[in-house]
Amino acid sequence: MTEPVAVHPLFSPWGRFGLYSFFIDAPEPAIVDTGIASSPAEGMVPALEAIGRRNEDVRWILLTHGHIDHLGGAHALWELTGRRARVVIHEADAPMLRSRRAHVDEYLAGRGQYLHDPDGEAKLSAATQAVISGEMEPDVLVRGGETLSLGGNVTVSVHSIPGHTPGSVAYVIDGQNDVFVGDAVQVHGAANGFPGFVDPARYRSSLQYLSDEIRPRRLYLGHPYRRADGTPYGVELDAGQAREALRESLELEARVKDAACGCLAAGLQDTDSAYSPSARVAEDLGYQGDPTLEPSPFFTTLHGYRTALDPTTHDEEISTHE
Ligand SMILES: [Zn+2]
Repeated sequence: MTEPVAVHPLFSPWGRFGLYSFFIDAPEPAIVDTGIASSPAEGMVPALEAIGRRNEDVRWILLTHGHIDHLGGAHALWELTGRRARVVIHEADAPMLRSRRAHVDEYLAGRGQYLHDPDGEAKLSAATQAVISGEMEPDVLVRGGETLSLGGNVTVSVHSIPGHTPGSVAYVIDGQNDVFVGDAVQVHGAANGFPGFVDPARYRSSLQYLSDEIRPRRLYLGHPYRRADGTPYGVELDAGQAREALRESLELEARVKDAACGCLAAGLQDTDSAYSPSARVAEDLGYQGDPTLEPSPFFTTLHGYRTALDPTTHDEEISTHE
């Protein structure tokens, strides 16, 4: 049995996005996810002060995955703890913590192929400089299956839930089943209004695993993800809302898959559409969001289906009709 521990959301804004970290008020306090470079000083320190806690007492920095808006603040927060907190990340996403360049390479290998932005690489490179507070080696590499002791009787178990990224993990406070998933439960997406995942099959099986095996008592999300009607969930879902969000995420993945498979079967077509070469998918799904806005989940996700269904072509250029 573990003693009940309190969880406090810590908010910091970033453009169109609300970034959320979570403070686990354990004997060895933990913060799940770190926002961007400015988030620890601007969002976390004042929020911790307001609840009578100090950043220098934080002993664990638990990263749910390798995206810049979750690990960008890790180095800065680690500094604010007097370099005493242990930084935890899945080994598959650890390159994103070690290297800013890894984010640019990921862009070029995936969504960048569809955005046709001649300045895309330079823009992303500049963003990684501004938003990632420092490159660093994690203290603890996980693969799922580990248990971390946060002092006293408080333990957190680590579960591999890949799909949104290869190294996405859930952290579960044992005994009270509070579950932190970062961006692994996308529902209808956040500010871009489209769910983002690099590996559709694993995204689906991770949702199924959360739904059937973990069964969260509370589910903590990395952003206020949206329902079908566009209204956002909060970032702190009770058991009923968690079941609903997981079911909706599974339902939407099935619809996106149908549309993506139909589009791939018909052949990708390079057109003037902003959704090219997958305009048919946007049409089938009624998606009207701007697919070029970073982080461009539309192209990330469709590239994932394309890679899964036709692995021989994923590195090739899309044919043009010029
Ligand atoms: Zn993410």
